[in-house]
Amino acid sequence: MQIEDARRLIASYLTGRPVSGEALAAACEMAKTDAEYIQYLKEELGLRSDWVSECDVFLSNLAEFGEMSSEERDTEMPGLMSHLAHCQSCRRAYWEVVPLWKPATAPGGGGPSVKRLAEGLVVVADTFGRVRQSGWGPSPEEVVVAAAAAGGEPAAAGLGGPQVGPHGMGPRRWVFRDEEGGCTIHLEVCGRESGGMAIGCRLEAAEASPATSARLRLEVRQVDNNVLFVAGPLANFLAAPLFLPWGEWLIRLLAAGAADTHVWEIPLSLEQENAHDDSHE
Ligand SMILES: [Zn+2]
Repeated sequence: MQIEDARRLIASYLTGRPVSGEALAAACEMAKTDAEYIQYLKEELGLRSDWVSECDVFLSNLAEFGEMSSEERDTEMPGLMSHLAHCQSCRRAYWEVVPLWKPATAPGGGGPSVKRLAEGLVVVADTFGRVRQSGWGPSPEEVVVAAAAAGGEPAAAGLGGPQVGPHGMGPRRWVFRDEEGGCTIHLEVCGRESGGMAIGCRLEAAEASPATSARLRLEVRQVDNNVLFVAGPLANFLAAPLFLPWGEWLIRLLAAGAADTHVWEIPLSLEQENAHDDSHE
């Protein structure tokens, strides 16, 4: 890798473009040899001189951090909280050690077994409809930049909108496994230049999963008032993406079997980037 490539990759990463962890690590290795560029990054980003070792600090505290309540984290490890929000590679490490799902009570109480994603997703779109993740929820799948740049076929079909926008941005994809429930939920979020975002969702169930023979439904509720925004058989949403305006949503997947109902909930916040925020090309 040339230093120019490294700079380009780091700039892409910093502006929220999809860059694979491997490529970013290689770019950082390369950039370390360029003292002038490192100085530039520090000045531009206001980074502290120990920015490289923050990951080491985080990873060495990860086991303990994973077991703390959010209150304990706020008081005892506030630096690591903000690091987690800004460092994708530490976030991946974090979500490998903590449970992805936590039990939640159904609206109205009692009834089905409800699991909620332990930390909601925050997705921010800029004025061109390019999306990036904010906060410290589970990271999206890595997207290979080269595939988009080459104009090749996108890795997977799903959303009906443009797979790769004019700025080389495709949808962000998340994969949430529920080992216990024997299923995997795939979520795609794609920005739209006209505002709001397009959502794609599907569920893959293993043979032994209670979801296999169940009727699958999708519900989207508004978080602030619990009002149902849209609902229907999950299959309906496979054919066409669901368009959601800005706001805080609760995506609910319901698997109604003969004996019981299982529900998976994904809090999803769709935000609009500050219009005054400069986007460096
Ligand atoms: Zn880190």
